[in-house]
Amino acid sequence: MNKKKAIVVGGGIGGIATAIRLSVMGYEVEVFEKNEVAGGKMYLIEKDGYRFDAGPSLFTQPVNIEELFELAGEPIENYLTYTSVSIACRYFFENGVCINAYTNPEEFAVEMEQKVGENPRNIIRYLKDAERTYEKVGNIFLNFSLHRWKTWVHPRIVAALKAVKLPYLLSTLNQFNVKNFNTKEAVQIFNRFATYNGSNPYKAPGMLSLIPHLEQNEGTFYPHGGMINIPTALVQLAEKKGVRFRLGNHVERILVENNKAIGVKSAGENHAADLVVSNVDVYYTYKNLLNNEAGALKILRNERSSSALIFYWGIKKEFSQLHLHNIFFSEQYEEEFKHLFNHKKFFDDPTIYINITSKMEAGQAPEGAENWFVMVNAPAMQDANWPEEVKRVRGYVVAKLNRMLGVDLNEYIQVEEVLTPAGIQQRTDSYLGSLYGTSSNSKWAAFLRHANYTSSINGLFFAGGSVHPGGGIPLCLKSAKIVCDLIGH
Ligand SMILES: Cc1cc2nc3c(=O)[nH]c(=O)nc-3n(C[C@H](O)[C@H](O)[C@H](O)COP(=O)(O)OP(=O)(O)OC[C@H]3O[C@@H](n4cnc5c(N)ncnc54)[C@H](O)[C@@H]3O)c2cc1C
Repeated sequence: MNKKKAIVVGGGIGGIATAIRLSVMGYEVEVFEKNEVAGGKMYLIEKDGYRFDAGPSLFTQPVNIEELFELAGEPIENYLTYTSVSIACRYFFENGVCINAYTNPEEFAVEMEQKVGENPRNIIRYLKDAERTYEKVGNIFLNFSLHRWKTWVHPRIVAALKAVKLPYLLSTLNQFNVKNFNTKEAVQIFNRFATYNGSNPYKAPGMLSLIPHLEQNEGTFYPHGGMINIPTALVQLAEKKGVRFRLGNHVERILVENNKAIGVKSAGENHAADLVVSNVDVYYTYKNLLNNEAGALKILRNERSSSALIFYWGIKKEFSQLHLHNIFFSEQYEEEFKHLFNHKKFFDDPTIYINITSKMEAGQAPEGAENWFVMVNAPAMQDANWPEEVKRVRGYVVAKLNRMLGVDLNEYIQVEEVLTPAGIQQRTDSYLGSLYGTSSNSKWAAFLRHANYTSSINGLFFAGGSVHPGGGIPLCLKSAKIVCDLIGH
C-alpha cells in the first residue's frame, strides 16, 4: 500500500521534530526549507577559529529530544551527547554582587543568603511550588492542544485547574516575586524568567513563576560541540528514518482545495500531499502562504514577543570571572521593559547576556581566547535604522561591560559579527524578528496563541515557536508532539 505523504514547510527545530514523528507514524515525509541548511534559528557562525551558536544557547529538558530517539529506535548517544551544568547562570549586579544560580536548590538558597541576605527558605519554597505547578499545570497545558474538548475532559485537568492559584493569574510575575522574596536581587533574578518567552515581567502573569523549575530544578545542559549539534543530530535521525530534506526550496503557497490542504507550491511547481504542517511563523503562514490577510491581522492582535540584538565577539583574552551563562543586570529593570514593550525602543542601560561555550570545551575558540555571544533584548520595531541602532547599542554594551569587568573590551575584540531583529526575520521569516512568536504579556496569553491546527482548512497543522504551546526549544519540540497526536487521532 502506498504511504500517505506529509509535507513540512520549514526545517526549524519544530519542523524537524514533526518530520521525525510523522515518519515513525508511517508517513512519507518531505521538509521544504528555504535556507541551504535546516535548523532555522539554530545555526552556526564560524570565523577565524571562533565558533558561535547564532540562536539559542540555553539547553533545558533534553527529555524532549531523548523521546524522539526512543520513538525512532535509535541510541541517542550515537548522535548527540551532553553534560549537565551545575551553575545555570552567573548574575552580575552593578553594586559588585555576583551570584551563582546553582542548579541544586539548596546550594542556590545558601548562595542567595550569603551574597544578598535572601531568606533561603523563600528560594526552596518558591522552587518547590514551581515544581508542583509545572507537574500539575505545565504538564497538561504544554503537552496537549488547548483547543480540543478532549483536553478539557482529561482526568488530570481537574488537578491542573485546582493547582492554578489566584495569584498566578491576578498578579504580574513581578508582584508575585515581590511577595515571595525579601531582597531586590532575588526579585530581579526571578523576574528575568519572563524573558524566556519574550515577555515583560511587569505585565506577564505570576503563572510564569513555573519557568524556573525547568532551569533551577531540572537543570541545564551543554550539548557537546555546541547547540548546533542539536539540529544536526535531529536531521541525521530524520534522514535515517527516511525523511527527505529539500534544502534551498522556498515554499510560495500552501495549496488548498475544498477547504483541504493538498500540497505546496515551490519554485513554480506543485507538490501534492495528504497533509501539510507549517513550521513557519504563523503570521507569515497566513499572510504569505495562505494569502489570508485577515487571518494574519488576527495574529497581530496579540503583542509580539521581544526580539534580540546579538554581537558575536571573538575575544583574545580569558575572563576567569565568567561562566557559560552570564547576566549583567540593568539597574533600572522596570524602565528597561517599559522601553522594550511600551516605547518599542532600546534602553540605554540594557541587561546583557553573555554565553561562552569555550568555557565548556576546547575547539570553540583559539587557545587563550573566548567566543562571546553577547545579547540584549530588542523591541519588536518596524522600520528601524539598524546600522544606527547597532552602533548606539554597541556603545552602551561596551561601556557597561568595561565598567563591570574593569577592562577596555575594544582592545580584545578580534572578531565581530552582528545579528539584528531584521536579520532574524530575513533568515527565518519570524515577523519583526520575534524570538517566541507572541508574548505572554496578558493573563490569557496561553489561550490566545494560535492552535496547532485550523478548523477552516482540513489537513493543515502548525508546529513551532509561534503557536501553542510557545517558543523555545522545549516547547517547539512539544508542539511537534501535539501536532502528531492530533494527526494520529
Ligand atoms: C538569538 C536567539 C536566542 C534564543 N535563545 C534561546 C535559548 O537560549 N533557549 C531556547 O530554548 N530558545 C531560544 N531561542 C528561541 C528558539 O530559537 C526558537 O523558539 C526555536 O528555535 C524556533 O524553532 P521553530 O521550530 O519555531 O522554527 P524556526 O527556527 O523559526 O524556523 C523556521 C524555518 O522555516 C523556514 N522557512 C521560513 N519561510 C519558509 C518558506 N516560505 N519556505 C520554506 N522554508 C521556510 C526558515 O528558513 C526556518 O528554517 C532563541 C532564539 C534566538 C533567535
